[in-house]
Amino acid sequence: MPATIINGKEISNHIRAGLEQEVAKLTVEGIKPGLAVILVGNNQASRTYVTSKQKSCKAIGMHSELIELPENVEEQVLLNEIETLNNRDDIHGILVQLPLPAHISETKVIETISPNKDVDGFHPINIGKMMTGQDTFLPCTPFGVLEMLKYMKLPIAGKHAVIVGRSNIVGKPAGQLLLNENATVTYCHSKTEDLPSYTKKADILVAAVGRAKMITSDYVKEGAIVIDVGMNRDENGKLCGDVDYDDVFDKAGYITPVPGGVGPMTITMLLYNTVKSAQKVIANRK
Ligand code: NDP
Repeated sequence: MPATIINGKEISNHIRAGLEQEVAKLTVEGIKPGLAVILVGNNQASRTYVTSKQKSCKAIGMHSELIELPENVEEQVLLNEIETLNNRDDIHGILVQLPLPAHISETKVIETISPNKDVDGFHPINIGKMMTGQDTFLPCTPFGVLEMLKYMKLPIAGKHAVIVGRSNIVGKPAGQLLLNENATVTYCHSKTEDLPSYTKKADILVAAVGRAKMITSDYVKEGAIVIDVGMNRDENGKLCGDVDYDDVFDKAGYITPVPGGVGPMTITMLLYNTVKSAQKVIANRK
């Protein structure tokens, strides 16, 4: 049986329509949600992501601002920029596009962003809150994965989720969010021995590796939910995921395509977090 496709674009559009209404409401109340994005240097991929984030903000009526700094900017200048944004009332979310040039400490940068405006959900305070199940800004990509499962009304509690990849921004938080939803979670990584022996037991398989088409049908249990976070280029330069989509399609129960799967959800959850931050300002006023 062919898999049911989890359409990230459709789910994303649905969530964005709700956000657009919320932005209009907040604007009437005198708070237009605002996102500031800092881009350091001239990395082409980063520039593409940033442009896409800005366009998405504007499309739902949010304020968006781009601060560009040169590749050789002093770390302290960047930190000062963040402090200025921390103190601005019209900015509710701050995002520093990663990766940063080697002379700048990513840790310092992330820890300088106010946890109240950390809409990427990377600040250790917000990560701690996520781990302890408190309300906070959840990291956008894993949050998007969770929202896709919920939108599709797929059961998570009691299911075995296997996460391939343990990065701080995708793999680890993806597992934590599924654990928070009462899944039984197994993490795999580059040192895992006999990877398919784990992935074949997954009811929910999340691939966040960064290796084109690595997950073939041999890695997948019949009927599994397969979530492909990967964004890679295949041998012809075409965008593809970590999952060999064509090979897995007839074996999986549900599958996310690349493009059109997790990708659009990531930006949507960034918009969601920024709107949520603006809502908190209103709530604190009352
Ligand atoms: P990282 O490179 O930070 O992490 C990759 C992880 O995969 C590591 O934990 C690594 O293990 C593991 N890994 C590498 N090779 C293997 C292997 N052969 N077998 C098992 N595990 C392996 O990547 P990210 O987490 O940042 O991103 C993962 C993918 O997701 C990339 O393709 C990226 O482009 C994409 N991505 C997509 C987003 C979206 O919006 N759709 C957003 C963010 C990322 P170890 O820890 O041992 O090194």
